[in-house]
Amino acid sequence: MSTDVPVLPLIESDELQAIRGSIREIADRFGPHYMRECYERDEPPNAMWEALSEGGFVGINVPEQWDGGGLGMLGLITVAEELAANGSTLLLLVVSSAINGSILAKHGTTEQKETWLRGVATGTKRLAFAITEPDAGTNSHNLRTTIKPNGNGKYVINGQKTFISGVEQSDAILVVTRAVLDDGNLGLPSLALVDTDAPGLKRDKIPMPYLGPDHQWTLFLDDVEVDEDRLIGGFNGGLGPIFDGLNPERIIGAALAIGGGRLALEKASAYARERTVWKTPIGAHQGIAHPLAKAKIDLDLAWLMTQKAAVLNDAGAKAGEASNMAKYAAAEAAIEAVERAIQTHGGNGITLEYGLSDLWWGVRLTRTAPVSAEMILNFVAEHSLGLPKSY
Ligand SMILES: Cc1cc2nc3c(=O)[nH]c(=O)nc-3n(C[C@H](O)[C@H](O)[C@H](O)COP(=O)(O)OP(=O)(O)OC[C@H]3O[C@@H](n4cnc5c(N)ncnc54)[C@H](O)[C@@H]3O)c2cc1C
Repeated sequence: MSTDVPVLPLIESDELQAIRGSIREIADRFGPHYMRECYERDEPPNAMWEALSEGGFVGINVPEQWDGGGLGMLGLITVAEELAANGSTLLLLVVSSAINGSILAKHGTTEQKETWLRGVATGTKRLAFAITEPDAGTNSHNLRTTIKPNGNGKYVINGQKTFISGVEQSDAILVVTRAVLDDGNLGLPSLALVDTDAPGLKRDKIPMPYLGPDHQWTLFLDDVEVDEDRLIGGFNGGLGPIFDGLNPERIIGAALAIGGGRLALEKASAYARERTVWKTPIGAHQGIAHPLAKAKIDLDLAWLMTQKAAVLNDAGAKAGEASNMAKYAAAEAAIEAVERAIQTHGGNGITLEYGLSDLWWGVRLTRTAPVSAEMILNFVAEHSLGLPKSY
């Protein structure tokens, strides 16, 4: 077979299996309640991030040349899925490792890679990602955060972003702006790395239900200045770089959802084997067993598509359709798995003690973010089926 053809490994390699073992060991060291403990102390999960960094896992997708593990998105989804299946979801794996790691590896200058990508790969630098705006929402053509040269070799950013994850634990934020051209019109996107303590940047925490210890923020950028070396892809040159970050974002979102779904299913199966309220354990009732079996099938199918998307992405092949489909399938399968696990646990499904309610919002989020189910169906209708666009 030609080595140019991307190959989907149907049996996980010894290397990936060993990685899963190491992730389980790290997760065990912190225990199943680590995320909630951090949340209750209102502290970022720094100790776990550092343990994962020391093991080389947060930058496992980054090329080895830049201190990463060189295993691409296939490596990162293995880390993310195993971690989530052991009770820990780190949103920085999405924004720092998957999005920023992918964009910098492909579009950073040598200097930007030295400064930022090495740090992302080793976990010593953490980067958030800000595209969503209050008034643009899903319609990224409507982005209104602007960047403009100030005539002194610097660029000035003004605007607002919302729902930005993990700013409190990041060194900088990759902000998606629109270039203001010489004629005053808005040009293409430009990507700027803005320090989280930059003058002119303010943030408000958005009150959220339990999603893990990471926070979401509304950002206000008021005449924030950046040097030219903070622009990834250059002024008016961010469109290609953004696209190279979006598929990894979807793929990693899918992996985290599937891990959460697997954890829920394992909890539900264990509970249904033991809990007896009539003559047999509740797992003998098909009303309980069949939905769990269906959830297992749907999660495995979604994992297959997620691997496919990762392999295509890593090979530099077209991965948009597979990444969208993976994220859609993973979110739906994981939500159903958590929902059925809650139902299997009766009243205990809603208690904090059994940990299912803690899984709910994190998994439910994936139907909405990083891209909503509706927008994926729009993509498939338009691009895969050639149907006309309504919006
Ligand atoms: C916990 C959390 C973390 C997040 N982290 C980040 C982050 O780190 N960085 C970041 O930039 N963003 C982040 N987001 C934002 C997230 O990506 C957006 O919330 C998501 O893309 C949806 O955008 P919106 O909320 O503006 O919804 P809207 O665009 O207002 O959409 C509302 C609803 O209308 C539907 N809809 C809109 N247009 C159409 C259409 N044409 N056809 C059919 N249906 C349509 C949508 O699917 C959705 O169901 C996060 C969000 C959450 C909740």
